Amino acid sequence: SEIDAPQFVNHVIDRFEMSTKNQEIQFKRRIPEDPIMVQGDRDKLTQLLDNIVSNAVKYSPEGGTINITLKVEQGRIVVSVKDEGVGIPKENIPHVFDRFYRVDKARSRNLGGTGLGLAIAKEIAMAHGGNIWVSSDWGKGTTFSFSLPYSQEVVAQQ
Ligand code: ATP
Ligand code: MG
Repeated sequence: SEIDAPQFVNHVIDRFEMSTKNQEIQFKRRIPEDPIMVQGDRDKLTQLLDNIVSNAVKYSPEGGTINITLKVEQGRIVVSVKDEGVGIPKENIPHVFDRFYRVDKARSRNLGGTGLGLAIAKEIAMAHGGNIWVSSDWGKGTTFSFSLPYSQEVVAQQ
């Protein structure tokens, strides 16, 4: 179906904001106001964004800020989720989208999870003709981004 990407992202972040009220986590958004229509499966795209944002929350320190941006780049929307968490060591980055892969076994076990979230996120992004990637500085934070083709950018009437 047709999904208004900015509204969709805002909706998901609203939900995370409510569910993390008790944690000292701040969400900051840079999301355009005008509609940008994306063709896709709403439940799957929700799972894609959920998996990335839930990681950002899970691997963030208390008092951390999570920045969410939505941009239009070369006929695609790019959604980025940037956290101030532990980061991912360089040598582990090529593997984070693998099934059951977890960077620090001990730490990850304490935080819970199966190591499937990112593999599923990647599958969904690819199935929608998009992509997913990560950049991270060990100890400083991590940015996960995904792109999706959009069908139509509705420009507000002048
Ligand atoms: P699940 O998502 O299945 O509950 P998980 O979060 O451990 O478990 P993934 O979401 O696939 O699994 O992430 C894989 C691994 O990548 C994580 O175990 C963690 O080590 C690392 N990782 C993912 N996101 C971040 C992040 N934002 N900051 C630091 N490390 C991360
Ligand atoms: Mg996860």
